Amino acid sequence: MNLVLMGLPGAGKGTQADKIVDKYQIPHISTGDMFRAAMNEGTELGLKAKSFMDKGELVPDEVTIGIVRERLGKTDCEHGFLLDGFPRTVPQAEALENILSELGKKIDYVFNIDVDADILVERLTGRRICKECGTTYHLIFNPPKEPGVCDRCGGELYQRKDDNEETVQNRLDVNMKQVQPLLDFYRGKGYLKNINGQQHIDQVFSDIDALLKDLK
Ligand SMILES: [Zn+2]
Repeated sequence: MNLVLMGLPGAGKGTQADKIVDKYQIPHISTGDMFRAAMNEGTELGLKAKSFMDKGELVPDEVTIGIVRERLGKTDCEHGFLLDGFPRTVPQAEALENILSELGKKIDYVFNIDVDADILVERLTGRRICKECGTTYHLIFNPPKEPGVCDRCGGELYQRKDDNEETVQNRLDVNMKQVQPLLDFYRGKGYLKNINGQQHIDQVFSDIDALLKDLK
């Protein structure tokens, strides 16, 4: 099963990725891991990528795509893979189509974990941290017993600047704008499966799993 996983920050993509690779024993290929591996192995492309990252520059598409090609050609991808964080753009998605067709493969599903923007904002702005001991809470997922007070040490809880509503909303807007053409591309190909990410984590996975069972 050849899968691509998409979802905005806060949609719960990481959790679902873990569940998919755990059950189906396919490699979880995230862009970061892929870059790190290529750099550690010292491949030509890995070194090239490193030279850009060391300068604080974006790695050009041709290098990224080359690294993806090498990774997907490895034997552990024979029975499938879960791509996470790649592709990010339509040109990258088109390159992926070419790589896969060279390898005699095709994408089975592109899962998009779909969550309303206002719920994402609620999830992403919910983090609170203790000023005294640094313990992290979440107003929805892991609230303190008493609002604004640390359970452990009684310290005052605060919200990081990165977590405030304006910053989060901006980040989401940028992401949404970026991701829309990619969703349209995959919808056009017939790969896209929108998964309702506003359900319980287990139900989200069971919706994904129902589609994966048919692939076996
Ligand atoms: Zn504390």
